[in-house]
Order: sequence, then structure tokens, then C-alpha cells
Amino acid sequence: MQKYIDQLNEAQRAPVLQKDGPMIVIAGAGSGKTRVLTMRIAYLMSLGVDAFNILALTFTNKAAREMKNRIASIVGSNEAKNLWMGTFHSVFAKILRIEAERLGYPSNFTIYDTQDSVRLLGQIIKEMQLDKDVYKPKQILGRISQYKNSLITVRAYFNNPELQEADAMSKKPRMGEIYQNYVDRCFKSGAMDFDDLLLKTNELLNRFPDVLAKYQDRFRYILVDEYQDTNHSQYLIVKALSDRFQNICVVGDDAQSIYAFRGANINNILNFQKDYDGVQTYRLEQNYRSSKNIVEAANNVIDKNKTKLDKIVWTSNDDGPKIKVHRSVTDGEEGRFVAATIFEQKMQNQLPNNHFAILYRTNAQSRAMEDALRKRDIPYRIYGGLSFYQRKEIKDVLAYLRLVINPKDEEALVRVINYPARGIGDTTVEKLTVAANHYKRSIFEVMQHIDKIDLKLNAGTKQRLQDFVTMIQSFQVINENQDAFYLTDHVTKKTGLVQELKKDGTPEGIAKIENIEELLNGIKDFTEGQKEIDGARGSLSEFLEDVALATDLDKDTGDDDRVALMTIHLAKGLEFPHVFIVGMEEDLFPSAMSLNTRSELEEERRLFYVALTRAEHQAYLTYAQSRYRWGKLVDSEPSRFIEEIEEKYLDFLNPMDTSYRYKPMMDIDIFGEIDKSKLRLSKPIGGTPPAYISSQEPISSASIRRLKPMSSSGSNAKSSSVDSNLVIGNIVMHERFGKGEIVNLEGVGADRKAEIRFDVGGLKKLLLRFAKLNVI
Ligand code: ATP
Ligand code: MG
Repeated sequence: MQKYIDQLNEAQRAPVLQKDGPMIVIAGAGSGKTRVLTMRIAYLMSLGVDAFNILALTFTNKAAREMKNRIASIVGSNEAKNLWMGTFHSVFAKILRIEAERLGYPSNFTIYDTQDSVRLLGQIIKEMQLDKDVYKPKQILGRISQYKNSLITVRAYFNNPELQEADAMSKKPRMGEIYQNYVDRCFKSGAMDFDDLLLKTNELLNRFPDVLAKYQDRFRYILVDEYQDTNHSQYLIVKALSDRFQNICVVGDDAQSIYAFRGANINNILNFQKDYDGVQTYRLEQNYRSSKNIVEAANNVIDKNKTKLDKIVWTSNDDGPKIKVHRSVTDGEEGRFVAATIFEQKMQNQLPNNHFAILYRTNAQSRAMEDALRKRDIPYRIYGGLSFYQRKEIKDVLAYLRLVINPKDEEALVRVINYPARGIGDTTVEKLTVAANHYKRSIFEVMQHIDKIDLKLNAGTKQRLQDFVTMIQSFQVINENQDAFYLTDHVTKKTGLVQELKKDGTPEGIAKIENIEELLNGIKDFTEGQKEIDGARGSLSEFLEDVALATDLDKDTGDDDRVALMTIHLAKGLEFPHVFIVGMEEDLFPSAMSLNTRSELEEERRLFYVALTRAEHQAYLTYAQSRYRWGKLVDSEPSRFIEEIEEKYLDFLNPMDTSYRYKPMMDIDIFGEIDKSKLRLSKPIGGTPPAYISSQEPISSASIRRLKPMSSSGSNAKSSSVDSNLVIGNIVMHERFGKGEIVNLEGVGADRKAEIRFDVGGLKKLLLRFAKLNVI
């Protein structure tokens, strides 16, 4: 253990070594907050604290897994197995399943995703005969989500005239009734939405002192990462659970609070000292992630915010290259510039794809990037957006599976009762829904008793409804005896889903079948994994829970050498050697919707701070002078955020730039570091206007390198001392790939590479100046 403690700096060591009591670590990006949490858990365990008594809450489940692996490599995987780690939603979904009966829920409750909730609200709004242009289901869901995250239940809503008035003022006087109906319908379907997972946990802990005592006693040490983005509901859960032992350690950065729009409350971090007695406050100041130019430019940016805690962030890393700023005429050209730059960097420096990330403000921006990457055959992965599990064909299969587990699940039932078509029309489904509401039963129960209820259905329809019930029940029998893979395979065949897609015969249909096969592969992996862990059958309900809570960041595809594309919101906590922040334009970033108040603009600025601080080595800011938005070509100005960075950290790539900030530039050579002869007018590509920089040869980074040679120790000071001493046979630890053995070394200086056989993940060739290896 001491060896690992020695790897921390003094400021990091203090919160790791303080065993008990409440503490908060407030520090800027890349200063090692997450590392402190990880080491703290390992240290507690080395002191004899049982893993069973530790709860760690992270921003993604992937982060939790990585943390767990790291801890396992220090204390042993058997010891680490019992740690409770994950997102708020996944951890408390598990607890709610155990305690569901207390709240009147079945333990196999379904988790509704956003689409389910929006569809249900649409249905309710229709039944109430309200105008869906006034009562927009998505907006209504947002409102309900706000209530739930502030712990405003339906009853509390009706006891609060102010809330009702506010809704009436915004032309939604029947908001309360919708809320009531929505909650009733979810309950009747045995379903919780995402916000319920937190709301119901609060209810559970408030209403049942014995349950509270049980979990307080269990979670004696609680740790929370990204505390600045917790909402009120999450705050109360943490407060309640830590109340007895007060061993609570939270880490966060007020400058990275970017979820206010979803109810995150920065006061949780600001008030922490008041909430507990004897809080120790720690600050970390040294950034280990990024080169000096990036750290200082990021400081420039965040300095413009008025509302912030005073914090210092510095680094002893190399200056690194300046931040490159690139202007293009269209978003298509912007995409080509990004793809071409990645291509060139990969070739010149032998870099893997996963050293590159493209970050954007809105999901819609990914398309231009995708098109360009595909043209160059650069593998990429989109995180967020329409995730795998949100695709129609996958949701159809999952809906059948959900029905097997919980036949009351109304959203699942309505989705597949007539898909593939089996002659059960909308009118029949409406009659069933009305009857279900009338008898306060689920639709499935009504179907089970269809003989005894007079819904004026003809004999054929009744038979088809009964056949559907029988089919689902036959799946339930299989589920009791077989694993999830067997069942799912059976379901896709028996329901006719696959035949339906085969009939379709189009390339889209074939792609959909492939997706279903991919789903089966995923389930196979899952069931095998479960068998390995505890010899269990690999239950379907556990799989569905994983899926319901999966964010795209959580998927481990095994094939991770891909360029990462994601919104900035999703990138929190991550790091990449090369980061492109695209769409740096006014009204896009900062978003047009955030320009009304200072606090909204400040949140956008924090978002930019988050984006910039993801970069380890090189950051690019790109903007287009025009882009299609909402189907129209819109002219854009460069983002004010570019201007907020001092010029000395920036490197403008367009030689003919009559840039807004350098007018008139004429003969001032601000591009001194670029060999302009390499920059030429390109031919128009695909009808787009000519660019000053060819997308074939985007920036001449050869010339940049010639003028600014990489030092032989590399740009990454922290790993260089280790790198030069590496020999074949060394056992090393890599931040992402874990433990491995060096089997070959080649190249010199900045180009030195090691071939490493990782315990998990196999053989990989890594460039040492980026690989950050620790010899163990
Ligand atoms: P963020 O605010 O973005 O979440 P963070 O404060 O959680 O950042 P970490 O992700 O823990 O920072 O650390 C940033 C990088 O610096 C990681 O690659 C980490 O391994 C490395 N690092 C942290 N502390 C040290 C240290 N003492 N020595 C060497 N590397 C370190
Ligand atoms: Mg972190």
C-alpha cells in the first residue's frame, strides 16, 4: 500500500489518509480528485475496513468499474468484489428491488426510460383531451422530473398553491392532474422512471427507520465523485445514509458544474461545510493531466466567471503545443478538417484511434463528423445520442422480455401487442386501456379475463388476445428454467420478429437483424459473465436492469480503439491526448438558449472549461462560418469563448484569416510557426466552397513539428522518467488497460513504443510519451 501512497503528492495524500469524519476535496480539473477517491478506498480496505461497508457513487458505471479494477489491482480482486460502486441510479435501483415491497412495488418493477415516459404522457394527454401543442409531452416530463428531484410529490404539489399558480400562468392549469395520472399509471404498471429511483429511495429512507438504520449501518464509508452535479434528491440520500457515522468524503469542482438544467444544485458543494460537524476541507492544485498551455488557457476561461470559488490550478507538465484554432466555411469542411488531422496525426505519430476525442455541444453535430471519419475509414464510436438500446428493433425485443418479467408493464405491452402484426388493432387496445383504467388493473390482467368482461370484441379478436397471453406465459415458463440467452433467442423467433425483418429484405432490415444478433451476443456475454461470478443462471431481470440504466458510456465493447465522439456533458471526468472541440460558434456554443441570464452563460462557460480540460496534449477549437441548423443554412460568428483565451496560448491555422480579432492583419505574421507554402487552396469538394486548407492536407503538422520539435523526453513530463528506464519483461500498469507485461520496445525519443501484453485486452502497441505507464 505504501508504494501507492508514495505515488500521491502531499495534498492528495492528506484526504486519503484521513480515515474518519466528513471531508470535502474541492479542486480543479485533472488534479487527481478521482484518483484520491480510488486510493482512499484502497487505503481504507488496507486498514481492515470491510468492502461491504463502503459505498462509492460515480458519474458513470464505467467510471465505477475502472475504479474497482484499479482497487482490485492493489488489494486483490476477491477483496474488491463486495464494494458497492456505481451511479446513484444503479446503486439505488438495486436497493429498491430488495425493499420494493415496503413501497407497494413488485421487486421485478420495470424501469421506464425517457421514451417510455414520454409515450405514456402523450397517451394521458390524449385521454384527457388536452392540446398536445400546449401540453407537450417532453416538456411535461421535464416539469415532472423537476418536481420529483425536488421531492415534490403529487400530494405536495396539490398542497402548494404557488406551484399550481405557476403552471396555470404558463397555460398548463391541468399539470397537477397529469402528474397524478402519470404517477398512478406508472405504479399500476409496476414501473419506476429514472427520477423515481431517487424519489422512492428518499421515501424509503424517510418512511422506514429500520430500513434507514440498516443501510446506515451497512454503508459506513460513503464517497461521492463529481459532487458538484448532485441534485437535491441525491443530496438528501447521501445526507441520510451518512448521518450516523459521518464518514463521508465528497470530491468536486464548482467550475465543472454543468447539470443545473437538470436540477443539479451547486449549493450542495458550497454548503457542505455547514451540513456536517468538523468538516475537513482539502484543496488540490497541481494538474497532472494537461500540458501547461491547456491548463493556463482553461484558467483564462474560468476566470471570466463571477460566481466561483477561488482556486488555483497549475502544472509542472511541459508547455505542450498551443491550442490550434481552425476556421472553415461549412460544417462539412469542418468535419473534413478534423478527420484529415486525425488521419495525419495517426500516421505521423503512430497513434491509436482512441487517443482522439471529438466533443460537441449538441448531438446533431455528430453527423458531419461521422461522415468525414467514415470517408477516411477511421473507426469511431458515438456515445450518447441514439444508443444501441434505443433502436426500434432492440426496444421491440426488450419489450417482449420486459413483459416476461413484468406483464403489468403497460409501455412494453402496448409496444408489441400488435408487432409483428397479429390482428389486434388500435381500437381493441383502446378498449383494453379504458377497461384497465376502469377496473384499476393492468391491461394484461384484463386480457387474461377477457372472457368475463364485455368489451364488445368479436370472437376472433378475443382468441388473438388469448393467444398473446398464452405466448407470454409460455415465455415465462422458459424463463424459469433457462438462461436469458436461450429465452431471448426463442422470443425473437417465436414472436415472428426476425421473420418480419427478413421479409422486409431491405439493407435497413438486414442491419436490424444484425442488431438483434448483436443484442444476443451481448446477452450471451452477460449470462456467461454471471455464471463465472456466482454460478448463477444469468437472470433476465438483472440483464434488463443493466440495460435500463446503461448510458452509452457504460458499454464495454471490447473493441475500444476508436475515436470517441460525444457531447461535452458526457465527457466529464474523462481524458484524451488529443481533443477537438467543434462548433465553436456564437449561438451554438454558447448556446443561443443560454444567453438570457448571466448564470446561464456562466454554465456554458463551465461547460467549455470542462471540454478544454479533457485534453492532455493537444486541443483544437474549430468553427464554421455557416452550417445547416433546423434545415436552414445559418451564418455564424466565432464563439466568444475563443476570444476569452489569451492569444499567447492560441495558434490560428488559417493563413488568410481576416479574423475578427486580428483585423486588419495584413503583414503581421501570427502564423509564424506554420510553413505557409504548405497551405493552399483546395479544389472544391462535393460542391462545397473552396477552403484555404485542403482537407487532404489539413495542417502541415510536419512543418509544425519541424519548427517546434518534440523534445525527446516527450511532451508528457510525468511519464518520461519512467519511460527511459523501461526494459522488456517489466510488469507495468496502464491507466486504462490495467496490468501488462512489456514484450517488446522499439523506436527512440518521442517515437519510442512498447508492445505490451495486457492481462485483459491482449497485445497492444503504445507510444510511451502518451502511455503513462507505471512499473509495478
Ligand atoms: P476531473 O476534474 O476532470 O474529474 P480529476 O481531478 O478527477 O479530474 P484525475 O482524473 O483523478 O483528476 O487525474 C487526472 C490525471 O492525472 C489522471 O491521468 C491521473 O492518473 C493523473 N494523476 C493524478 N494524480 C497524479 C500523481 N500524483 N502523479 C501522477 N499522475 C497523477
Ligand atoms: Mg474526476
